[in-house]
Amino acid sequence: MTVYLVGAGPGDPGLITRRGAELLERADVVVFDRLVDRRLLDLAPPGALRVDVGTRAGEASPHRQADINRLLVEHGRGAATVVRLKGGDPFVFGRGGEEAQALVAAGVAFEVVPGVTSAFAAPAAAGVPVTQRGVASAVTVVSGHGGAPGEPGAVDWESLARAGGTLVVLMGTAGRAEIARRLVAGGRPPDTPVVVVHGATTASQARVRTTLAGLAGVELGPPCVIVVGPVAALELVSPGDGALRGLTVVVTRPAERSGALVDALAEAGARVVELPVIAVVDPPDGGAALAAAAAGAARFDWVVFTSAQAVARFVAHLRDGRDLGSARLAAVGAATARALADCLLVADLVPDQASAQGLVDAMPGAPSPGASVLFPRARAARDVVGPGLRAKGWDVTEVDAYMTVAADPAGGAGGSDEVLDAAAAADVVVFTSPSTVEHYTALAAGRPVPPTVVCIGPVTAEAAARAGYAVDVVAPEPSAPALVAGLAAHVGARRAADAGAGPA
Ligand code: SAH
Repeated sequence: MTVYLVGAGPGDPGLITRRGAELLERADVVVFDRLVDRRLLDLAPPGALRVDVGTRAGEASPHRQADINRLLVEHGRGAATVVRLKGGDPFVFGRGGEEAQALVAAGVAFEVVPGVTSAFAAPAAAGVPVTQRGVASAVTVVSGHGGAPGEPGAVDWESLARAGGTLVVLMGTAGRAEIARRLVAGGRPPDTPVVVVHGATTASQARVRTTLAGLAGVELGPPCVIVVGPVAALELVSPGDGALRGLTVVVTRPAERSGALVDALAEAGARVVELPVIAVVDPPDGGAALAAAAAGAARFDWVVFTSAQAVARFVAHLRDGRDLGSARLAAVGAATARALADCLLVADLVPDQASAQGLVDAMPGAPSPGASVLFPRARAARDVVGPGLRAKGWDVTEVDAYMTVAADPAGGAGGSDEVLDAAAAADVVVFTSPSTVEHYTALAAGRPVPPTVVCIGPVTAEAAARAGYAVDVVAPEPSAPALVAGLAAHVGARRAADAGAGPA
């Protein structure tokens, strides 16, 4: 059959071509390199033969490369669909050309499926355009592993220095001191801007800005792309853009409530694993008490909500807004107020500080004896709002609107083993309530915990700390955008520190 030499792209699995992904989906055999993201391999059918040829592109010894060529020829002569998955573009370094030569020599049909090369993707990921009108009108892609002067394939760095434009050096990490020395010897000023990009478009992406004079001192391990020239002084990065790029984040909240958070995380570049560890269900009475309370809502002075879920379940029992009479409405925070607004109801009170205590503090005192508040809430919720409002003189009726229970791990909702494994391999876990902490801990028992723990607010953070988690980020306010901003700031600070120290 045919051997497909497929470019996997620079790192982020989303950067493979559609043609490449389609071929993977029907591959019988996948032969891949070490730099290829495992998530791409998951596209192949479960039964496909996956062969790890275990070399970093560019590092294969001639002997190993001969073995790989033979492997491709053998499989290519059979009936199988063979995908040779290579990092970046198959024909930009990485010996794709040699593999194609072997297939030509053996008379085996093949097709090259180009990929996004790290030569251009890595500078772009660092906000550097490789050409720019008036700054650089040529770009040269060059290997830092070329032979010594005089050897075949040797790079004439002094001539490249004189040619000007942008130089993009692949496989140049080890030889960076010598490369910088020869470019300066060839006439490039020592203060020529340089940017070094490590692990572009992956979770470990880091970059260092320097000059030719400073290049030798940059401590970033492979894989790195080195960009030399005036364009390296540009930094065209959209504010907040891709702040979470390459990170996998576990969202533990029930599926029907995770939408805004999932969207905000994805927008910042994260890959999201949804692991709803809890489910929201009717209270034991099936909602009868809530229905009765809703029917009599007009006799209350206030109806107070501490979650969008409570709003949705309460409103479902109203015929329309007139059932509320002149009762005023309080919402604990923006998301709850939005849930009311979605039902054409305006929150009369939203505290500045979005917490149960903030709500109690913001509520007025009862104007007269018997003044009443209806509080539809989660069964077994923390006792803050009810007692707090009673202390302010209100006659408070609390009614169970819903309850949270552990999602059934076998039933899919709570996650099959596959989802639990994906969650265990993630970079970040987000807890949005004490009950998500509790149920995640039970569900994930025995599996590794993602290294970064994020909580929606201080109450959840306390619960997480009590359960033994080291909490890295507490959202400055309990909303999806604030949580993503807090996580992005944490990740940015850590990446800056990693880039300074160099990856292990
Ligand atoms: N065919 C590949 C290049 C293979 S050579 C391509 O088109 O991208 C391997 C070199 O590519 C590495 O030494 C490094 O210089 C570069 N490289 C590959 N992936 C990279 C990444 N995500 N970030 C930075 N450099 C990368």
